[in-house]
Amino acid sequence: MMKKYLIYISLLGSPLFWGQTKVTEKSVYQQKWASSEKENEAMAFDADIKLSDTEMALDKKIFQVRKQFLSDTEKKKISLYNSSFNEIKPLIESSKLFELLQTMPKGGLLHTHSGGITDVKWIISTARKYQECYVYDQKDNDQFIFGQLAFFEKGKVPNGFVSLDKKLTSTPDFEKELQDLLTLKRDNLCSYTDYWIEFEKRFKRISLLLPYRPFFKEYYLKGFKDLIKDKVQHVEIRYIFDELYDFQHGKYPLKTSITDLKDILKEIHQSDPQFTLKLIYSSFKFLDNESIGKQLETAFELKKEFPDMISGFDLVADEAAGHNISFFEKSWTKLDELNKKYGVELPLYLHAGESSSILNKNVLDVALLNNKRIGHGLNLIYFPKTMEQIRKQNKLVEVSPISNQILGYVSDLRNHPARVLLSNGIQCSISSDDPSVYGYTGLSYDFWVTQVYWDLDLKALKKLVFNSINYSSMNDGEKKKALTYLNQQWDDFVQKTNQKLN
Ligand SMILES: [Zn+2]
Repeated sequence: MMKKYLIYISLLGSPLFWGQTKVTEKSVYQQKWASSEKENEAMAFDADIKLSDTEMALDKKIFQVRKQFLSDTEKKKISLYNSSFNEIKPLIESSKLFELLQTMPKGGLLHTHSGGITDVKWIISTARKYQECYVYDQKDNDQFIFGQLAFFEKGKVPNGFVSLDKKLTSTPDFEKELQDLLTLKRDNLCSYTDYWIEFEKRFKRISLLLPYRPFFKEYYLKGFKDLIKDKVQHVEIRYIFDELYDFQHGKYPLKTSITDLKDILKEIHQSDPQFTLKLIYSSFKFLDNESIGKQLETAFELKKEFPDMISGFDLVADEAAGHNISFFEKSWTKLDELNKKYGVELPLYLHAGESSSILNKNVLDVALLNNKRIGHGLNLIYFPKTMEQIRKQNKLVEVSPISNQILGYVSDLRNHPARVLLSNGIQCSISSDDPSVYGYTGLSYDFWVTQVYWDLDLKALKKLVFNSINYSSMNDGEKKKALTYLNQQWDDFVQKTNQKLN
């Protein structure tokens, strides 16, 4: 955590006073204070990290850059702590700190979703190139909502849909309107929004777009390139499986998504051979045990066929509206049986505690189950015994600070619960959840907010970055390779940034 660069001058030990050099002696009070500080630091999540001399030099320089940024915003009377991410986004982008964090290797992005990976401007401009792409421009009804995108064959276009390209050409303002319909922003921290209702509408608007096989291929290629550009070498996607389709063949089997993604990876590997991908089979918290049972069977089948691609299982959607994790006890007790039947293990990576309420007790389940990592874990701090278990079980919490602010769980990011987890030795990594829905790409914005709002030093940043590989679902061999690459990238970053900030 952030060291205090303060120099204590003791008057008693001052050479000016005595006229000779004398070693400063600390009072008993000061000694106790210093050991208390050390004991607290020893409990933090990054206590095992020792920085090299060059890393320490860089740490001091980054601290100065941050200090300068904070004093500049203070002079300009910018209300940094009471502004939403969307309000300060231009300020972030113009900061030296952001430029610096963009060049920092991030390791892996462990928590993101299949519907939220890449830039909506790109989605619109790419979708309009397809003649068969349409947009619904009527009032919401039971089936479709305003701004919903879809592909249709000529002559089979449902009422209310118009050609996307024609609509964008005839109504130039519609592009900006559509961008807003596909992104969820918190314009300020005060106004009321029904976050989850609005959030889910964003996914619905692109839900018919992504399974169209030609578009699917372009979408993931772009998504992976965005991540690589932002120095992310590994990604794990909470993946909602849908049958891909096109108009020549109709629907393809589920596994076509995986084989297509493998082909996309091959293409990516021509320029970036280090890039790796894992999929976490995801279903929904609002389904019943019978449906989840079927989904688990499908997940196991896919894992058996593609053990290097499918890593685990998760349930998504608003925790306040869906079932508790314990509701699915029946399904979880079948996991051992399924392990044996398919000869593969399918660990859980559950979203749990994406809530500010103590009445949501989903974090209790993750300590009981074979659950490797926890999505969000925002209310874990209210369950001290479980927090201790999670620490002892060495399970990582995937923290997505910007997502947490936009969905209304945290306003002033200085008060993010993950700071309590980090101080208490719970391992975390930084994720972006659904960056495209929040109006950005990559992982640098999330690192920027943690660096600025949580007083993180280079030691903490390094631990978060390396955690994202160490706690990834890669196997030992893959991890070893990934860590070798990350170490090289990290050393290179430290050296180059040290030179640049001279
Ligand atoms: Zn999520």
